[in-house]
Amino acid sequence: MAITFKGGIHPLECKHLSESKPIEILPAPDKVFVLVSQHAGAPAKPLVKKGDEVKLGQKIAEAAGYISANIHSPVSGKVVKIEDVPHFAGGLSSAIIIENNGQDALSEELEPHSKWQELEPSEFAKIASEAGIVGMGGAMFPTAVKLSPPKDKNIDIVIINGAECEPYLTADHRLMLEYPERIVEGAEMIKYALGAKRLIIAIERNKPDAIKTMIKSAKDKDIEIAPLKTKYPQGAEKQLIFALTKRIVPSGGLPFDVDCYVQNVGTAMALRDAVIDGKPLYERVVTVSGPIVNEPKNLLARVGTPLRTLLETSGGTNAPIGKVISGGPMMGLTQWSLDTPVTKGTSGLLVFPPEKAEIGFEKPCISCANCVDICPMNLIPTQITSAAKYEKFDIAKKLGALDCIECGSCSYICPSNINLLHYIRWAKWEIRQMQRK
Ligand code: SF4
Ligand code: SF4
Repeated sequence: MAITFKGGIHPLECKHLSESKPIEILPAPDKVFVLVSQHAGAPAKPLVKKGDEVKLGQKIAEAAGYISANIHSPVSGKVVKIEDVPHFAGGLSSAIIIENNGQDALSEELEPHSKWQELEPSEFAKIASEAGIVGMGGAMFPTAVKLSPPKDKNIDIVIINGAECEPYLTADHRLMLEYPERIVEGAEMIKYALGAKRLIIAIERNKPDAIKTMIKSAKDKDIEIAPLKTKYPQGAEKQLIFALTKRIVPSGGLPFDVDCYVQNVGTAMALRDAVIDGKPLYERVVTVSGPIVNEPKNLLARVGTPLRTLLETSGGTNAPIGKVISGGPMMGLTQWSLDTPVTKGTSGLLVFPPEKAEIGFEKPCISCANCVDICPMNLIPTQITSAAKYEKFDIAKKLGALDCIECGSCSYICPSNINLLHYIRWAKWEIRQMQRK
């Protein structure tokens, strides 16, 4: 029986545009724009000022709280400014702007540990914290916090997420094909750090070559490779845990409430690189794709590189641009500027023509129940939407609005073009405001 969850949708995958393109190293640009807010939690606090010389990998901003992350320079050069630049989530936000001297003079702040098995399990969270590692699948949650679960939690299963269920995105697919050993080693470190019994690497069946490669790399190791049914949002944490273990994360709960830990393949590799090579997280693979991109690619880009540079390196577009998305088309964020810089969580840059960007006019609900049938969280999206439209946010809360994982499947499937997710997000925001009061 196929490993999966209830509900979900089957959008056009469109991965053929870039899945066979090997990762290319994008040269570091002349100037990088390093956002201090590029992770879940508090923005990092700058440690440098205008005129300071910095080295590649030097810590330039430090975590400003428990849920925050250190940030390291993606180039060597001189800090020329700290000022607001376009932020991927909208508006402007503070960034450390560094002029690249082209030397990549390396800072050796982080100590490499070739024999990681000799480290204490608690050391891995410290190294992840020092290296500024955050979830690279899009959530950007600090890995050090995830690696430090409450003492009463007893994680027995580590799941490494290689589902990459969003259409167009192929960055994780290429990582699994090109760096399987590094992913496996990072996965083993996580299992060791948490004292877990099982380690599963989960991959959707639409990546048979990645499944084969990971099986080969995990040979003779205590690792299970789990092929998953291809269905969106198979890679969402709660859906992945259910598909593999049949455990249900409770409402408002986290994976450790069901003794599970989920981490993206890229993040596992970043942890391995920090531990073994002493390398902080200052670059990542970004898929550049979309129907009008001339040469879709998978680019290894330094954090702080403007999206415009990635698009130019991919040959630009063959038609006027209607919509630019950072991330996947389902859960990614629409960008208002190509000057927005790459962050640790930028999995994709997708570009669409105007006609594909049109949402269409909203029509009345025809009570088809499509949105109810496909909701992976067993919600009734149409009722939550009605509650939001009438500003009955207490009712939206009772209907479980806060459990919505914002996968966008309901909006995608609705024949009346109702942007249900838009209303549900609004309801969630209003409910949280009420709770703060
Ligand atoms: S209500 Fe939320 S979780 Fe359910 S389909 Fe819509 S966006 Fe996804
Ligand atoms: S999918 Fe759209 S039309 Fe059908 S019940 Fe849901 S909101 Fe109504």
